[in-house]
Amino acid sequence: MTQSDLLIVGGGVLGTFHAAAALERGLSVTLCEASATPRGATVRNFGQIVPSGMQPRWQAHGRRSLAIYQDLQSRTDITLRQLGSVYLASDYDELGLLEEMAVINWDNGYPSHLLTAAECRKRYPGLREDYCVGGLFFPEEVTVEAREMIGRVLAYLTAEKGLNYRPGHRVVKLKGGGARVQARDNHGNQYRAERAIVCSGGDFGSLFPDRLAASDLELCKLQMLRIAAGPGPELPGNILTGLSIRRYESFRDCPSYARVKETEDPGAFWKQWGVHILFKQSPDGSIILGDTHEYASAREVDALSFENRPRLNEYMLDEAKKIFDLPRWTIDASWNGYYSQCREHDIHLETIGDRIHVVTGIGGKGMTAGPGFSAAHIDHLYAGTPLHPVTASKPATTPS
Ligand SMILES: Cc1cc2nc3c(=O)[nH]c(=O)nc-3n(C[C@H](O)[C@H](O)[C@H](O)COP(=O)(O)OP(=O)(O)OC[C@H]3O[C@@H](n4cnc5c(N)ncnc54)[C@H](O)[C@@H]3O)c2cc1C
Repeated sequence: MTQSDLLIVGGGVLGTFHAAAALERGLSVTLCEASATPRGATVRNFGQIVPSGMQPRWQAHGRRSLAIYQDLQSRTDITLRQLGSVYLASDYDELGLLEEMAVINWDNGYPSHLLTAAECRKRYPGLREDYCVGGLFFPEEVTVEAREMIGRVLAYLTAEKGLNYRPGHRVVKLKGGGARVQARDNHGNQYRAERAIVCSGGDFGSLFPDRLAASDLELCKLQMLRIAAGPGPELPGNILTGLSIRRYESFRDCPSYARVKETEDPGAFWKQWGVHILFKQSPDGSIILGDTHEYASAREVDALSFENRPRLNEYMLDEAKKIFDLPRWTIDASWNGYYSQCREHDIHLETIGDRIHVVTGIGGKGMTAGPGFSAAHIDHLYAGTPLHPVTASKPATTPS
């Protein structure tokens, strides 16, 4: 029987950073992860930490995440690099949104600066002159190598903070009752804790399947590509392009957003498949390129095909070639990832009894907002502080 103050289910970004925050409070923490190493959304993504893409409440969590990631990197190498993020506009509607976004960020005290098209081409060699009309750069934003980062954080928490990490242990039963929660894993091990936090990502079947099926949760499938390492330009940081400007929630606060969206063709291929084009170069020179979005409700996750659609990969590649002239476009890996999100809410939080807290459905913002949100959630549960920061919007003024 393993006893601890807190039992966490799931070793993705939400489970791991809930554990980190709880350990900081001096709690004893056991974390069960079903796989030998986490294999969910947390290791399949770009590793782009981009609070700039989020509306104020989640941008605040994202900015707290930046500080948490930087603090961890100062103690151990978690693959973090501060190379900034850029949004590249492909037309004057998108450029107008970037100019408005610069004003909004100025008011929020979040540094960003506009780049001319020539400045963009200088900073991002190979950027096509016929694509980019200007950009907006966020110097504080960072990247991580998603396949390595979470393992390094878990190893650090285990070695330095006393985390009881149980990889390869799937929790198959969890119940509250009395003053403790009780759990059992797939090997028959028993756990007791004062509370449990369930961060099982897109796994709606293992625990509480009926509750999750009755919620507004859905599963989103994304297709991703990697362009092989080889000779070619350095493309630093997070590179987001015109379709991201049209997709990311932060731009909804821009005065011209509604007008720009009205002029879009509702039947466009990129809209139908939720395509936007993002680039993230890894230290070895390979480039992650993505992504696409397909959805199914928590009740019907099997409706999502496990196959990738070659047509979507070809489309992403064709669009990417309109943005950069690269000497090579060899694809050496393609994969899909799945994240859970809510149809109506911005995260799924459910307390079962008064000691089991289910946290999932953070959507496409988990790497960015996850660590900050997890810290806020632990503070909320153990110290009663507000779950979300107060984010008042101020009247717009002009950035320098
Ligand atoms: C392709 C892709 C690209 C993305 N790009 C970005 C990006 O660049 N920036 C960004 O901010 N966000 C991005 N996201 C979103 C981000 O990856 C997710 O929001 C985040 O990883 C979700 O974390 P999680 O901990 O909720 O879930 P997961 O990472 O899926 O973790 C859940 C874990 O729980 C474990 N588990 C499940 N059930 C049990 C059980 N019963 N017992 C024990 N363990 C269990 C699973 O094995 C898994 O490891 C992307 C997502 C995808 C898929």
